[in-house]
Amino acid sequence: MRNVTIIGSGPAGYTAAIYTARANLKPVLIEGSQPGGQLTITTEVENFPGFPNGLDGPQLMENMKKQAARFSTEFMQNNVTSVDLSKRPFSIVLDNKNTIQTKTLIIATGATARLLGIESETKLMGYGVSACATCDGFFYRDLDVMVMGGGDTAVEEAIFLTRFAKTVTIIHRRDALRASKIMQEKAFKNEKIKFQWNSVIEEILDVGRQKVTGVKLKNTKTGEITTHPCDGVFIAIGHSPNTAIFKGQLELNETGYIITKPGTSKTNVEGVFAAGDVQDPIYRQAVTAAGTGCMAAIDAERFLEDNP
Ligand code: NDP
Repeated sequence: MRNVTIIGSGPAGYTAAIYTARANLKPVLIEGSQPGGQLTITTEVENFPGFPNGLDGPQLMENMKKQAARFSTEFMQNNVTSVDLSKRPFSIVLDNKNTIQTKTLIIATGATARLLGIESETKLMGYGVSACATCDGFFYRDLDVMVMGGGDTAVEEAIFLTRFAKTVTIIHRRDALRASKIMQEKAFKNEKIKFQWNSVIEEILDVGRQKVTGVKLKNTKTGEITTHPCDGVFIAIGHSPNTAIFKGQLELNETGYIITKPGTSKTNVEGVFAAGDVQDPIYRQAVTAAGTGCMAAIDAERFLEDNP
């Protein structure tokens, strides 16, 4: 029987591990299919406090893992296939068919940025293609960038990028934005922002040179293909929280994020806590994920004091 099981190995999961391990709770952390989480697909991270010269995303995650290991966190390189949260102890079933019984559960499974699914996007991810303007916008000072998407995220990222970039072109598959009216107005008023309506990215150039030099766009009405030069491409077509295995067992919002009680990491099931992007559609930063990971650890520790 485990005191604390943590699912997920991003900043939220590792921070929860560091705190619960230091509280002598001997946590087990199940790493999942993308060990280290979303930061492992970025290059340089310059906004995580404590690293004045920045560091690579994968290195930051390696550091967090080492810190969790130093206090005897047990790591499992597995995926969770199902959970039973209907009674305590909770049951966590792994892909190797083993079952973990645990008194508390911290869910830090994160969210996955939706991507276009084209080969050039995968090959140039981190080399001019990004799914996070806050992380990578700074590198595009006086350059021309494209943002794919028409929702609030795309518009917000485009506005943020105008702080650095020379021009920001929003590429949207329809001729009207999905974003809220107020965000739309801001975007339309911003002289640096241009629009390519009724367009989707067919290919990002140039895989051969391992850097972004432009995009091939396909007109969704006419099928016409055109080439547009640019220096960076931001994909902002939404995020999906990784909550499929909790559906029907935990309270989720209409877009699938876990609902936590305001100001805490508590879910609607006592003893189950959520931290990081899986419960945060708004901030989605490494540092906020780490912060809520700490909250989940302290909430779990207090729960165990009352329910040994
Ligand atoms: P949304 O789902 O709202 O928007 C996704 C956008 O991407 C849509 O315009 C959609 O097009 C487009 N899209 C989706 N899939 C593809 C694809 N395969 N190819 C091309 N385009 C695609 O996601 P967001 O991340 O923008 O927002 C999520 C939620 O978070 C929303 O409720 C939003 O309001 C909220 N949010 C609020 C913010 C704020 O208030 N400041 C900031 C950020 C998010 P189409 O329109 O045709 O479906």
